[in-house]
Amino acid sequence: MAAVSTVGIVGAGAAGLALASFLADAGIKTEILEKSQAPSTLGSGITLQGNALRILRQLGLWEEISAHGYAFNDLGLRAPNPEGTVLAILDEMQTGGADLPATFGMYRPKLAAIMRERALAAGVVISYGKTVKTVEDLGSAVRVHTEGGEETDYDLLVGADGIHSTVRRAIGITAEPQPTGMGIWRAFVPRPAEVVRTDLTYGGHCFIAGYCPTGQEDMYAYLVERAQDRHDQKDTTIMAELAANYGGPWNEIQQSLLDGAPVNYTRFTQHVVDGNWHRGRTVIIGDAAHSCPPTIAQGAAMALEDAAVLAEELIAGQSVDNELWEKFHTRRAERASAVVKASVQLGQWLLDGEKNADVPGLMGGLASRLVVPA
Ligand SMILES: Cc1cc2nc3c(=O)[nH]c(=O)nc-3n(C[C@H](O)[C@H](O)[C@H](O)COP(=O)(O)OP(=O)(O)OC[C@H]3O[C@@H](n4cnc5c(N)ncnc54)[C@H](O)[C@@H]3O)c2cc1C
Repeated sequence: MAAVSTVGIVGAGAAGLALASFLADAGIKTEILEKSQAPSTLGSGITLQGNALRILRQLGLWEEISAHGYAFNDLGLRAPNPEGTVLAILDEMQTGGADLPATFGMYRPKLAAIMRERALAAGVVISYGKTVKTVEDLGSAVRVHTEGGEETDYDLLVGADGIHSTVRRAIGITAEPQPTGMGIWRAFVPRPAEVVRTDLTYGGHCFIAGYCPTGQEDMYAYLVERAQDRHDQKDTTIMAELAANYGGPWNEIQQSLLDGAPVNYTRFTQHVVDGNWHRGRTVIIGDAAHSCPPTIAQGAAMALEDAAVLAEELIAGQSVDNELWEKFHTRRAERASAVVKASVQLGQWLLDGEKNADVPGLMGGLASRLVVPA
């Protein structure tokens, strides 16, 4: 008998869909409340590291996912010169184990669609157009109130509602995302033949110019700059002007931008909830509990790991008690916090123009830790 019979999950992102699937597989009645009216079909690419793939494989999704993206085991470094000279090609640690690639790029909406179908097939109810407003702990259950005036009770409520989590605030946790001082332009574009892995260029006009192949036909490209007021976050010409400062595949990427490839601009933020992520019978996971700039591309991996660990503890547990929460936090809090710290540190070194930064040491140390399953 698991610790709970019914679970309400707020948010149909990676954390919510993964948790719901694991719980429904174990016979726990699971409902997701999602504020969007329908699944999004728009978006850019995502870089999934091996430890994210390990959880997706646990969900039985690796075979399908591997057919819809681009796998690679190395990382290129290019010079910020007009030729985009390749300076080094480094082996990446396979953090999901030797039988999974180190890195996998794919189109975000495709990942979301595969995870959504998986949850529905497991029997999860996904209710769209339901914005959670407040949460009431009744002692032996949690009552959720939506903006539409509906009330539902669950044995446990999980806030997987992202960086600006309503559930986090509703249970009195005051941590909020803070700006890190950087902003990122991203575009989804056709893949130049030369792009066979992620190549990063540090320096030049931006802090980082990078890309990740997401399939034979496509990839996403990004440029990280000092955060500024980019009122028109969809202005393709600004990203095209910035791209003109880089060489190699950036020539083709720039042409795609001039041809009108869709772009967007986002400012980096970060936060970690210190101490417990739960209050009574409500807990937050994924970006609701911790968020980081994507300098190491571990945000979704951490969200998936949170989901897998919480599901394991709920399924193995007898009741929602201190012992269960202690086990959950021991496995998650420090690990997620280390990822946020390293992601922020990388960005800060760039902002500070630090010449002696031990980037390989930081990345290698974190990767050795992530190889060990959460
Ligand atoms: C620019 C950028 C690039 C990134 N690139 C990468 C990358 O390459 N690799 C990587 O691993 N990570 C990356 N990340 C991080 C990654 O996107 C997140 O860590 C991950 O999506 C978090 O998943 P989640 O399920 O916790 O939250 P989300 O994906 O944000 O899902 C939250 C869901 O909750 C819903 N919701 C919110 N409020 C309510 C409410 N009140 N009621 C009902 N529903 C609600 C939302 O609509 C949403 O569907 C990036 C982040 C940024 C900002």
